[in-house]
Amino acid sequence: MPITTAAETHDAVRALTLKAGHLIDGQLVEGTVSATVTAPWDHSLSVEYKQVTVDEVAEAVAAARRAFRTLRRGGGQPKDWLLAIAERLETEQENFAALISFESGKLQPAARAEAAGAVFSLRHWASMDLAEDVIDSSPAHETRLVRTPLGVVAAITPFNMPLLMMVNKIGAALLAGNTVVCKPSPHTPLTALHFARLVADLVPAGVINILCGGDDAGPALTASDGVDMVTFTGSVGVGKAIAASAAGTLKRVQLELGGNDPAIVFADADLDDVVPKLFQAAFGSSGQACVAVKRIYAHRGITNEVVRRLADLARTALPGTPYTDGATMPALTTRGQYELMHRLLEDSRQRGAVIAFEGSSTDQGGYFAQPTIVVGLDSGAPLVEEEQFSPILPVVPFDSLEEVLDAVNSGRFGLGATVWTQDPATAQYLMEQLETGMVWINGLGRPNPSVPFGGAKESGIGREGGQLGLDAFTEIKSVTFYSKDPSA
Ligand code: NAD
Repeated sequence: MPITTAAETHDAVRALTLKAGHLIDGQLVEGTVSATVTAPWDHSLSVEYKQVTVDEVAEAVAAARRAFRTLRRGGGQPKDWLLAIAERLETEQENFAALISFESGKLQPAARAEAAGAVFSLRHWASMDLAEDVIDSSPAHETRLVRTPLGVVAAITPFNMPLLMMVNKIGAALLAGNTVVCKPSPHTPLTALHFARLVADLVPAGVINILCGGDDAGPALTASDGVDMVTFTGSVGVGKAIAASAAGTLKRVQLELGGNDPAIVFADADLDDVVPKLFQAAFGSSGQACVAVKRIYAHRGITNEVVRRLADLARTALPGTPYTDGATMPALTTRGQYELMHRLLEDSRQRGAVIAFEGSSTDQGGYFAQPTIVVGLDSGAPLVEEEQFSPILPVVPFDSLEEVLDAVNSGRFGLGATVWTQDPATAQYLMEQLETGMVWINGLGRPNPSVPFGGAKESGIGREGGQLGLDAFTEIKSVTFYSKDPSA
C-alpha cells in the first residue's frame, strides 16, 4: 500500500519503530536511553525510541566475535544471507521509503530510489566472489594470493543515505566472511532499527548487529579491541578522529569522507545540456550528497551565461516536504547544515561577493532553503573551499586550463570532479591531473556497485564497491606451495 501523506508516514514510522529494536546477538533489544527523531520537514512530527549504552555496544562486539569464530570455520553461507535479506527488503520498500523520508527529509522518489538501490546492492554483492590469483609459478613452486576475512567490522554511517550506506557495508563485509556491528547516524536511526527487525531471523546470532547510540557509541566501537576494521562514511573531521582512535589497535580503516566536488565548464560546452545537469547535481538533494556539485568553475567567457541560466532554474525550484506537490528539493536534514549555509552566505557578502540569486529560507517548522548562487569569490573563500551540505553554490570564473587545475588541486578535498568540454585533449589532461578519486567527463556520477567509489587526499582512504571494495574487507595472504620434485 503506497504511503503518500505526511500523516500516513508519521503513523507508519511510529508503528514500525514500536516493533523494531537494536539487533544484538540475534535478539531485538529495546535500548536504554530515551531519544527522539523529529522530521526535518515538519518539526511537529516526532518519534521516540531508545538508544543503546556503551555496555550494549560492548555486548554486540563480543557477540560479533563469537559469531566470527563459527563463521571462520566454515559455518556460514553469506551469499544466501544477502539474497534472503534482499528478498525481504524488496517487499518492504514502501516502509523503507517512508522511514527514509521521515527522518532525512528526502523527497519520495529519492527515498524510493534509495530503498530499491539497497536491494540491488545486496544482490550485486551476492553475485561477487573473492578472487584467488596465482601470482608466480615455476616447476618448483606456485604462489597464490588468498583472501581471508578480517574479523569484526564496525560500520559507521551518515544521515544522508541511511539504508544504502549500511547495506553496502554489510554486503561487502559479510561476503568477505566477516561479521558486522553497524552504527547509523543519530539523525536517522529509525531506518536502521526497522532493518534490524527484518534481518534478525535471516542470519545466525551475532553475524549482523545493529546499534543506534548517542555520541559515545561510535568512539566505543572504534576504540574497542574486539573490532578489526572500521568502515566509515561521513565527514572529514570525524574520519580523522576515527583514524586516530583505530590507531590504538592498528585496525584497518576504510574512510569514505566529505567532498567539495568541482564542475569545470569550458567555453565549448553545450550549455543547453550542461546547465540543467549541473543544477540538478547541485540542488536536487539540496546539496546533501557527498558528490553533489559544490562549486562551478566556468570559463570567463561563459560565466555570465552559466549564472544567468542557473538563476533562471533557481526561480522555478521548490523546496518541500516529501509530500509537497511539485517539490524539487528536500528539506535540510540538520540544523547544523542550515546554520552553516547562512554563515557561509554572510561570509561571502562580507568578502564582497555578488549574490546572483538569493533563495528564501526558513527554519520555521522545517529547514527549507531555495537555491542561492554566489559569484565574485576568490578560490580561498570558505564557500569555495569548505564542504557544505546545503543549496548554496559558488560560480568562479577561470581563464586557463592551468589556472583552474591549480585552483581545484590546491584544496584539501579530492572526492570527485566533473569536466565539461568537447575537446578530448583537455578531458584527457584533466583526467590525469585532477587529484580526485573519481572524474566524470560530460556527465554526472551514477551509482554503480561495480565501480570503486572513494576519494583522494582528505576525502578518504580506500575504495568502496567493485572488486577493490571487496578486497578492502579481507586480509590478503600469500601462500606458496613447493614441489617435492628434487630436480625442480
Ligand atoms: P558525520 O561525520 O557527522 O557522522 C557520521 C557518523 O559518524 C554518524 O553515525 C556519527 O554518529 C558518527 N560519529 C560521529 N563522531 C564519531 C566519533 N568520534 N567516532 C565514531 N563515530 C562518530 O557525518 P554526517 O553529517 O552524518 O554525514 C555527512 C558527511 O558524510 C559529509 O561530510 C559527506 O560528504 C559525508 N559522506 C561521504 C560519502 C562518501 O562516500 N565519501 C557518502 C555520504 C556522505
